[in-house]
Order: sequence, then C-alpha cells, then structure tokens
Amino acid sequence: MNAEIIAVGSELLLGQITNSNARFISSQLAEIGINVYYHTVVGDNPNRLLDAITIAENRSDLIIFSGGLGPTKDDLTKETIAKHLHIELEEDKDAMKSIVEFFQNQNKPMTENNRKQALVLRGSHVLANKNGMAPGMMYTASNHTYILLPGPPKEIEPMFQFEAKPLLTSLVSKGQIVSHVLRFYGIGEAELEDKLQHLLENQTNPTLAPLASDGEVTIRITANADTTEEAWKKIRVAKEEILHIAGDYFYGVDDDSISSVLTKMLMKNELTIAAAESLTAGLFQAELANNPGVGEALLGGMVTYNEQVKINQLGMEKEVIEQHGVVSSECASEMARLVKEKFGSTIGVGLTGAAGPQAHGNKPAGTVWIGIAIGDEPPHTYRLQLSGSRNTNRLRATKSAFYRLIQ
Ligand code: ATP
Ligand code: MG
Repeated sequence: MNAEIIAVGSELLLGQITNSNARFISSQLAEIGINVYYHTVVGDNPNRLLDAITIAENRSDLIIFSGGLGPTKDDLTKETIAKHLHIELEEDKDAMKSIVEFFQNQNKPMTENNRKQALVLRGSHVLANKNGMAPGMMYTASNHTYILLPGPPKEIEPMFQFEAKPLLTSLVSKGQIVSHVLRFYGIGEAELEDKLQHLLENQTNPTLAPLASDGEVTIRITANADTTEEAWKKIRVAKEEILHIAGDYFYGVDDDSISSVLTKMLMKNELTIAAAESLTAGLFQAELANNPGVGEALLGGMVTYNEQVKINQLGMEKEVIEQHGVVSSECASEMARLVKEKFGSTIGVGLTGAAGPQAHGNKPAGTVWIGIAIGDEPPHTYRLQLSGSRNTNRLRATKSAFYRLIQ
C-alpha cells in the first residue's frame, strides 16, 4: 500500500504555517510500513482540491487529507470529496452530541454552521475527535482508502495515532508489525549509510529507514511477522548486524536521548555532576534537567560567560587566560576541575568556545573545547570544530559533552 498526504489550507501556501501534519502522519505511517510517495499541499479551493484528488487517485492507494473539516465557508474538504465520490453527507449522532455538549460546557450559544461539523460521508468509519469538534473519517471505496482528518495538530495527532493508525495497521498486515529505533551520535548520515550500504540495499522485511536530525542519526527497523515474538526476532538479527558495523556510534534506542542515557548512567552509578558553561550559557544544565529524576545527579553549575567571572567567581588563575585564551584546552580543563571542586561533585564539565558567527581572536567560529574532570584524575579535554549557526553550535557542543560522558 502506498500513500499520499494532501494537506488542505491556503495558509500553508502563503507560508504562514509549516506542514507539520504531513511530517507527523508520514512518520506514523513509516512505523507501520506504509510507504508515503507524495505530499501535496493545496489551498482552500474546491476545484484545485478536486484536481489534487484526481492526481492522487492515479498514483496512490491511500489518500490522507488534513484540514478543512471545520465550520467555516472555506472548510471544504469533505464537501468536495462527497461530491467527487457521489456520496451523501449525513449527520453523525455522536459527533453532534459532543458538539452540543461542547457549547453547553462553554456556556456559549451554538451557531448553525457548527452543525456542519457533525456531517460525515455516508458509509464511512467515523474517527472520534477527543480534542475538538469535527470528527475525522475513513472511507473505503473499491480501489482507494480515503482518510479525512482535521487541521489543528492537537486534534489530528491523537486522532491519527489512536483512531486511524490501528485501522490501517490491520488493513496492511494480518500479522504483527514491530518497530525499533537505533540512535547514533558522532557520525553523519551519509557516512552511516555508506557503512550500512549492503544492509540498506537488500532490505525488505525488516525495513531500515535512516533519518538525520540535530546532529544525530537514527535508524528505524520495522519488521512484520505472524507474531510479535517473531517480528522482534527479525529486529534483533538486524540490530545485531547494524551494531556490529556501527556500534561505536550507538548510544540508545527508541525514545532515548543522549542526556536521558547520561542521566540513567549517573543515577545507576550514584555519580554527581556540575558544569561551568561559557558558550552554552546554561544549555548543558537545562538539557540535562529535561530528564525526570536527574536532581539526584545534577548538583548545579555556573554560567561563566565573562573572563572576569571565570577568574573572580570560578577561581581560575588569570595566567591561564592570558597565556592560552578562553577558547583553549587549558581553560576548559580548569573550568571542569574548578566547578567540580566548588560544587563537590564527582564529575565536573567545562564548556568554552566560539559559538560564531565571528571568530574569537585567532580561534575560528565553531571552535569548542570540552573539559571533563572525573574524581581525582587529571581532566580530559576534547576539541570540536563545528560549522553550524550560533545556536546549532551551542546545542552540538552540549550534546557532544553528553556523548563524551556516556562513553
Ligand atoms: P478548524 O475547525 O480549526 O477550522 P479544520 O479541520 O477546518 O479545523 P483548517 O481550518 O484547515 O482545519 O486548519 C485549522 C488550523 O490548523 C490552521 O489554522 C493551522 O493552525 C492548523 N493546520 C492546518 N493544517 C495544518 C498542517 N498541514 N500542518 C500544521 N498545522 C495545520
Ligand atoms: Mg477550518
């Protein structure tokens, strides 16, 4: 089964919003092994929508619509599809009931055009909207399946995930689908794909889908089998092969993040951590603090952005800065050692660098030094040469420090 997503909305074409619904639905479909071949965006115009539907029917089995199910005149998706497929629209009792209740709860009068939201394609499977008024629907004709979903992300996301996806899963497979994500850091997507080329080329079941974002690469393994156990067996075989080749860069699975893996490691080993941050200005601590329970491990830290603060507040010898500059191995090393002492933690981290876009003296933009001090050992330092924007560099520096710590 191959799918096409048609996002309806003039605001998408005007560049006022991005098509995050298509992104979300595509990623969900990938999990159940449905290939998405096209994303189409069309304005709130019935003729052009009709054109888009006709084109989609010629090339896709499953057509998923986002948007245009609301009460206003420009919401035309289901009317256009009903006309095209020669089906009537009829009022859905449950949808009507929840619309009436919504207005009663809000203590607002219900206007007539809101009734329109309870209309569904006759013969369709109605998808309940738990976060809004307009229900979604799934309609199966002889050669195509049409799914109509509302536009607002907070409505479409749960509706797709909990109402539509289970129906699609049973449609595409009589067996079980399991998917598992492997997470890598410190390797580019192209390099990883190159290493795994022979696996990627010959994949059918399980399928392997690499994806790069925020300096990380993930590979989603999706397997299909009669039972969940058999599907997992296929996944484990593929995982073993992948890790045999690229295990050096592997850090976690599924919903892990580098900082969550670090948090678990710190807690398991009863370690504590503190950070002195220059270019990241607190980002290291803020990212770490995203993980529940990290309070046992993260003692705190200092933002030592300014040279004098590094000297007066953190206690760095001014000669370190005079001799080596702040973007240096020596400065990162001292930051790590001093913050560890000051906070009495087992681990101290120092982050310093030129975030960009300007160079810092003779240190080019993107030069970062990470210092890590553990126990009584002399601190280790690591240099990065990054090439992103200012904020990308700050985030990469933070993630690289996490990655060093989990190794
Ligand atoms: P409503 O009942 O809110 O009118 P609707 O189903 O008619 O919902 P639209 O009117 O098309 O949907 O869009 C409503 C809002 O949903 C848009 O203003 C926009 O904020 C968001 N939205 C619509 N389409 C998308 C999309 N493809 N990606 C992300 N957000 C979207
Ligand atoms: Mg609308």
